[in-house]
Amino acid sequence: MPVPTATQCRSCGDSDGEVVLDLGRQPSWDRMPWADVPLPDPEFDLQMWFCRSCSLAQLRCDADGVDEMFAVEPRAVAEQSDRSIARLDAEGLVGPGRTVAEFGSPHGESWLARLAGRGMDALGDGDADRPADLVVDFYGLLHEPDQEAALSARVAALAPGGTLAMQMLSLGTVLVERQWYDLRHGHHAYWSLPALDAALRRHGLGVHRVFWYPMSGGTVLVTARRDPEPDAATLRLIEAERAAGVTDAAALRGLQRAAADAHELRDWLVAEHDAGRTVAAYGAASRSVPLICHAGLHSGLLRMVGDASPTKQGRRMPGTDIPVVTPDELVAARPDRVLLFLAELADEVRDSVPGIESAGGQWVLLDPAPRVLELSPAS
Ligand SMILES: [Zn+2]
Repeated sequence: MPVPTATQCRSCGDSDGEVVLDLGRQPSWDRMPWADVPLPDPEFDLQMWFCRSCSLAQLRCDADGVDEMFAVEPRAVAEQSDRSIARLDAEGLVGPGRTVAEFGSPHGESWLARLAGRGMDALGDGDADRPADLVVDFYGLLHEPDQEAALSARVAALAPGGTLAMQMLSLGTVLVERQWYDLRHGHHAYWSLPALDAALRRHGLGVHRVFWYPMSGGTVLVTARRDPEPDAATLRLIEAERAAGVTDAAALRGLQRAAADAHELRDWLVAEHDAGRTVAAYGAASRSVPLICHAGLHSGLLRMVGDASPTKQGRRMPGTDIPVVTPDELVAARPDRVLLFLAELADEVRDSVPGIESAGGQWVLLDPAPRVLELSPAS
């Protein structure tokens, strides 16, 4: 079956829509070249297309052969998985003898071991004909080029009366927090809660509960089932997204203006450079790539990026000459400032890479403008 691309919606198939965010030509963020591979890297259009028919914001066309590298799971992601699973348990969806299937992703560790640890019967590849009382989707859906087929597969895996549980970054967060850099190759769908509810209803389900968590600016855990009975808190979260403009192309075009602010990062780095300070960064995460590329950065402004993932070390940031180094190499370079692209990792990296501050360096957060992290009293 042909995969919908370009101007045909990946969910409803309609072609009535428009590009709301255009980041131009960008290298594929997942293809991190070895440090000695010469520039330029292949570049591909990076655009968010909004379907006026079903309100799904989506990747217009992909890069060739995106192949995400599994990164070391940050503590913040693991802790969120624990919270989400505890929440599913509290909702009465987890229990001994019940079956669970997972649509996972490279964004973190599978939930199946944790759910099996709570007595659930985890279904694997050989259990295709066994229905699941609980289907969990941990950032799986967004990686599917054909959203309609992907939703069908998840619904088909459910037992009668079963629940589909999805953890995702909602389009509402991307819009409200101006996180234009969450648009990336390989991530085909940017669901808002209203659009997701409507799409689920085409498949016989509907949003039953939404739980909101602060990770990545706003992460949601959504449960869906037949005959949903959303409570007042869930309806408020759905309506808050609608009010923010997730179903309105004009509101979503605000992301284009937010992307234009990338120059503020560059301006700050130029000022630091002129003041004689060395700036590095930590976290060669996916969202760092569009930030670095759109801001036009190079190693003269941003010396290096430290990352704990061995699969990334020895490489360079796509589209630039900025090397990815080990945390030890980062500390040895004694940078005056270390930019942290993922603010929620601040506590974790201050613990795991104490050498930055003990050598007199300071962590800097992007939120979205660079801000020197308030240092807690020395412990
Ligand atoms: Zn559509």
